[in-house]
Order: sequence, then structure tokens, then C-alpha cells
Amino acid sequence: MNSRPLKSSRPHIGIFGRRNVGKSSLINALADQDVAIVSSEAGTTTDPVFKMMEIHGFGPVVLIDTAGIDDTGDLGALRTDRTRRVIDQIDVAMLVIAENTFGEMERQLLQQLAGSGIPSLVVHNKSDIACIAAPLRGSLVNEFGVGVIDYNTVDRLNTEAIIDGLRKITPQSLFKNPTIVGDLVSYGDIVLLVTPIDLEAPEGRLILPQIQTIRDCLDNDCIAIILKERELDAYRKVIGAEPRLVVTDSQVFLKVASSIPPHIPLTSFSILFAHLKGAFEEYLQGTPRIQSLRDDDRVLIMESCSHHVASDDIGRVKIPRWLTHLTGSNLTFDFVAGLDSPPMPIDGYSLVIQCGGCMVTRRQIMQRLRPAINAGIPVTNYGMAIAFCLGIYERAIAPFVRRRFDATDFI
Ligand code: SF4
Repeated sequence: MNSRPLKSSRPHIGIFGRRNVGKSSLINALADQDVAIVSSEAGTTTDPVFKMMEIHGFGPVVLIDTAGIDDTGDLGALRTDRTRRVIDQIDVAMLVIAENTFGEMERQLLQQLAGSGIPSLVVHNKSDIACIAAPLRGSLVNEFGVGVIDYNTVDRLNTEAIIDGLRKITPQSLFKNPTIVGDLVSYGDIVLLVTPIDLEAPEGRLILPQIQTIRDCLDNDCIAIILKERELDAYRKVIGAEPRLVVTDSQVFLKVASSIPPHIPLTSFSILFAHLKGAFEEYLQGTPRIQSLRDDDRVLIMESCSHHVASDDIGRVKIPRWLTHLTGSNLTFDFVAGLDSPPMPIDGYSLVIQCGGCMVTRRQIMQRLRPAINAGIPVTNYGMAIAFCLGIYERAIAPFVRRRFDATDFI
């Protein structure tokens, strides 16, 4: 059983409720198979458990099974804290209650969900023992504006109603597959994808942003050509056709830029993903502020997962080196991985640099960046910061900035 977030941009649905109200049974009913451990003993689910599955009539999702919100003791406090941090990762929530029990814990949870802008559905389980009382249903609808469904996991008669309720509250944008290169290319265009195979490249495979970009090129009827930076000259000699777009790993930006004529659009995988699921507008404003960094300024580098840290790690070693070299200043760098909190209050930082976020959703990235954006701290991402440090920023963002200009030009 995997308790870590999975690599997915599918809708993330969190399931909350007290111990033994039937959260795991409900997951099994939605999946129409036994994917969660069900026990009559309270507290079977400890850490949040992420389950990637297909719900018939809804589509692919990540369901997050959480510990009971009424868990007790020291360990219980830790578990309930983790449950609440799940809220930062979800798009939609289901609160499971049973036998008309709705107290302060449920009330606080629904308020917290509403405060985070997460739509919720209440499932009243064990309706074979007691149906939901009309006053409770009324107060849930009136006070929180949530849908309420009477259910029991024994005969599962109302499973369709729950799936229908989930569809209604899930933002429609989550059912669409956002495109990575589709706005930049057309049918039959050649897209060159430059992927260095060096010591940092994983053994025997490509990394997720590269794979997803290849798939997106195919989905957009393009001709994707994958090559290493050393074969660019061979490409020009052997094939020669002009690519519509060149996408490179940030680390070989300068080498690729010197080989690709300036009129051919060039960007990086990291900038493509910053545009796809980062705070791109804020990055555009924040990136040039690198130039203003001064001695003793603090920079926060945010990684969205706890990946293996290489000796010449891009976020922990190379970006700090490039920033220090460019600014000539004595900067302090803090690093934070996953959902961990920064070591300093956010207003102690002069710049926040977010990773490409290949393992997480746009919502998760935005939730992480929100405190910095609200506090007016400049934010950028790895690819844009690297392009700025290497003096290639204008060219690297031009495909996106120019596209916006072109669009308004037709109005
Ligand atoms: S880009 Fe971010 S989410 Fe992707 S592997 Fe690196 S640290 Fe993890």
C-alpha cells in the first residue's frame, strides 16, 4: 500500500470522517473492488493513503483515505494533523458521517474545507441503522451549502448518487487534459526535444516531464524528435528540416541556444511545466527580481517531493551557485521538500523558487506558493530562474509571451 502522493494530475478526492464511520468501505464501493483494508476495529487507517483508481461513471481519480478526525493520544494528534494537511493536496472532499453524529470536529473540518475553496459532499453512512435526520440534513445544506447523501455500504444502493454528486462539485477544468505544447504547435510541426543523458539522468529511462511532453506532441499530431544536445549538428546535416519548437533540458540551455538559430522558438521542459501548472504570471513578474538580490538576502527553494538529491543537484547546488555568481552577493538558501514548512516565516525571504512540480497538481503548487504571493514575495521557478541566470530568459519565455500578443492582435 503506497502512502506517498502518486504522480498524477487526476482529480484528488479526500475522504474524511471519524474512525469507523466506513470511509474505507466507501472507497471499496466507489472502486467496485476491495482496494482499502476494512476492519470493525476503529483506527485501521493511520497515515493518509493515496489510491489511484478509476471510478466508473466519473473517470480516473486519486482517492485519499485519511485517519479518523477523532483519533486520540499523541500519535492521534499527529495523524489528525496529517489528515488536515491532506486538504492542501485535494480538489474535492467527502465527509463521511454515520448515525446522525455531527459535532464540532465535523463542523471545523467543513469550515476549513470551505475556507480553502474545496467543494465538499457529505455522505451519511449506515443508513440501514438510521437514516439521516431531517434537521441535520437541513442544517448541513443551509449552513455549509453541501450536498448530503444517505448511504449504507452494506447494500450500496446509492453509490450512483454519490458518483453523480462528486461529478457535480468537481471543477470542470479537472476533467480536461491541459496541453503542454498544444498552444505552440500545429499539425505536422517538428518539435525537437533535447534530453542530455549525463550522470544525473536516471538509468534506462526518461524523466516524467520528457515523457509527458512526447505524449503531448503525439496528441497534437506533431513530429517529436528526441535527441541529445551533442546530436543537434548531426540533425541539421542529416534531416535539416526546421523545427517549429525546440524544448531543452535547462542544464544545456546555452549549448542548445548556440546551435539553434535565434528565429526558432526555444524553451525548456521546466518552463513548459511552469506555464502548464505553475503561477506563470507571478513567475514573469518575480523572475527579474533575481537581479535585485543583495548580501544577506534569503532565498527559499521549494521542491514538491523528497527526491534523491544528487551531488550536483539542480535545486540544491546549481541554482544557488548560478544565483550567487550572477548577483555577486552573499545569499542564504533554505530548502523545503514536499509539504514541510519553511524554516523561517515567509516574509523573511526575498525570493521563492519553485521546482517544476512534475509529481504534483497545479492546485498543490498554487497552495504552496499562496503565502508568498499573498505576502508580495517575488516567486519564480527553476527553469525561469536558470534561464535568467544564463542570460537567455527573454528567448526562453518568448513562445508564451508572443503567443499572447498574437492572440490579442486578431481582436
Ligand atoms: S521537479 Fe519537483 S516534483 Fe519533480 S522530481 Fe523535482 S523536486 Fe520532485
